[in-house]
Amino acid sequence: MQEIFGHDGLIAKAHPEYEHRPGQIQMAEAVVRAFEQRRHLIVEAGTGTGKTLAYLVPAIAAACGSGARVVISTGTKNLQEQLMEKDIPFLQEVLPAKFRAAVMKGRNNYACLHRIKRADSMPVLEGLDEVDHFDEVFRWVMQTNTGDRAELSNLPEHLPFWRHIDARSDTCLGQQCPDFEPCFITRMRQRAIDADIIVVNHHLFFADLALRNGAYGSVLPDYAAVILDEAHQIEDVASEYFGAQVSTYQIDDLLRDVGALKLEDRETERELARISARIQRFADAFWISLREGRGLEGRFALAPQARGSSPTPGSPAGQPGWGGAVGEGPDAGMDAGEPPAGMPALPYHAFDNALNRLETTLAAMPEPPADAESIVRRTRQLRFDLNFIIKGEDKKFVYWLERRGRGVFLRASPIDVSGLLQDKLFEKVPTVVLTSATLSSAGNFNFIRERLGLDQAEEMIAESIFDFEHQAVLYLPPQMPDPRSPQWASAAAQEVIKIVNATVGRAFVLSTSLSGMNDLFERVAPEIDYPCFVQGSASKGALLSKFRTTPNAVLFATSSFWQGVDVRGEQLSCVIIDKLPFAVPSDPIVAARQRYIEEQGGSSFYEYSVPQAIISLKQGLGRLIRSTTDRGVLAVLDPRLRTKMYGQTFLQSLPPCRVTSDVDELSRVFELDFSVQSTGP
Ligand code: SF4
Repeated sequence: MQEIFGHDGLIAKAHPEYEHRPGQIQMAEAVVRAFEQRRHLIVEAGTGTGKTLAYLVPAIAAACGSGARVVISTGTKNLQEQLMEKDIPFLQEVLPAKFRAAVMKGRNNYACLHRIKRADSMPVLEGLDEVDHFDEVFRWVMQTNTGDRAELSNLPEHLPFWRHIDARSDTCLGQQCPDFEPCFITRMRQRAIDADIIVVNHHLFFADLALRNGAYGSVLPDYAAVILDEAHQIEDVASEYFGAQVSTYQIDDLLRDVGALKLEDRETERELARISARIQRFADAFWISLREGRGLEGRFALAPQARGSSPTPGSPAGQPGWGGAVGEGPDAGMDAGEPPAGMPALPYHAFDNALNRLETTLAAMPEPPADAESIVRRTRQLRFDLNFIIKGEDKKFVYWLERRGRGVFLRASPIDVSGLLQDKLFEKVPTVVLTSATLSSAGNFNFIRERLGLDQAEEMIAESIFDFEHQAVLYLPPQMPDPRSPQWASAAAQEVIKIVNATVGRAFVLSTSLSGMNDLFERVAPEIDYPCFVQGSASKGALLSKFRTTPNAVLFATSSFWQGVDVRGEQLSCVIIDKLPFAVPSDPIVAARQRYIEEQGGSSFYEYSVPQAIISLKQGLGRLIRSTTDRGVLAVLDPRLRTKMYGQTFLQSLPPCRVTSDVDELSRVFELDFSVQSTGP
């Protein structure tokens, strides 16, 4: 590795901004050992380690040496772009070994040739703007090689008709599709099969993992090793894909596609129209019958009584994608026009029966149109998922509902993914490398190992090249009220005003809640002379761009700005965090995880809440120091860092910077001979 990363190595010769990074070499050597010894590895590599090159070089060597593919999975689009547009092309220039890399994104990023041709003659557009945008997309589809919508950078991010023309698996005809050969998904897969390194995101990786060995097969080609970067996110993403979901949008899409079926027989057409109207009516009644969070947005636990009683009609025998068959229950072929005798006429039953009628009618067609099979498959899956969620009998899952915009999402998520990950990932793939800037708490990896079921793995914390003692100062206000007290909001605003005056703006103010963020913004913005921006007033990209280009700006934001945001230089010189970022205990998944730990005899606070909040806090603070020349102030307003026993664990987990409670000292961090006297706890 010295020959590549060392002072006179290949990278030093080719890279104008080369810096010698001992932590990078240590990490690269550890990754090499993991590949050679077919072991798993956990590496915490803070900003400035150069971790992407530290795992890419060994991954490329392993893939070229053995001919076995390596998958690299990222949590954010930024990192995926960095790998594909910067790091991999650089290594293709520099390394003697020739290798191929391909990116695979979720199917809904790609256009579906079959659907877009069909949409050309169908009413999927809602306004004149959309007609223009659709024409542009249609012209682009006819000449693009990838079909990846990222190429449409001049069109708005949200195109309402895109979901009617994307290549989602639900609507795919597979090998029966007349456009199977030129299909963008077929081409993407071919590029991946030919590649040594495949770059994906966590959503695609875990969607594939949940399907692997299942009824519908996998998405990714086989691989010998995987590197999960930004691995602190994977518990949540895995929960999403090992669960079940039914949404109002799925029903809308299904009915729309039923309406688009090209049928010769008028009577069948009329029958399907009747069934669709029935599904719509019963679906509306079903969604209205769900009381949780009515009139609000957010995530709500589904109460057992809200899920109806003994919903069994048409209940399939197995789990699609988990190795079971679908639609084979004892009642699968029954006439589903009315709720069965003896079954309470709850909205769920009427809804399920209407779906069953659709499924059996389409399945019985002697010469079904090409799209009918995928509609039958989707309907079965929908009924299975709905039944699973409404029944709610599997104690290993938490059942919940999310209201977002005009959509309602019903979900079942596994409470503990460790067993699933052990079975499907750690015991199947010889080398899994987990890395992130934040994986440890209090200097160990117990939390991440426990949450992910990773018993057998080497571990290391890569040395940072940043000199936190001289580059950063941690400011803890001398006196703050309890964050739950009525005095908190005003005291927090006063502290923010003092701090941003000391740092001349140039600050992120990160809150743990939207209401906390808005409150701080309203109290602070009129009192300071620096331009203020607030999350929600423009897109994230637009806000970041304004922040970067506006001198002395202050940006108020919540958790979505805590990760994957990179502002280098003095434009961002201060990060203020209002409260310790404990996960919200009313969130149904968090509550279920905490309950589960308590039931096992553990302490959910010390084993889950504290380490999880430490990792979140480190993510937020990680926005500040992005290069060896950055300097900055980290401020945490929450007094519990000093007053509670667990506060020490948080402090021990932060980079070893100096601590002060004197706001007048803050401006000195930007002086060359910076030396703040420690007044730490
Ligand atoms: S194979 Fe599937 S995704 Fe590809 S064009 Fe056909 S329907 Fe669309």
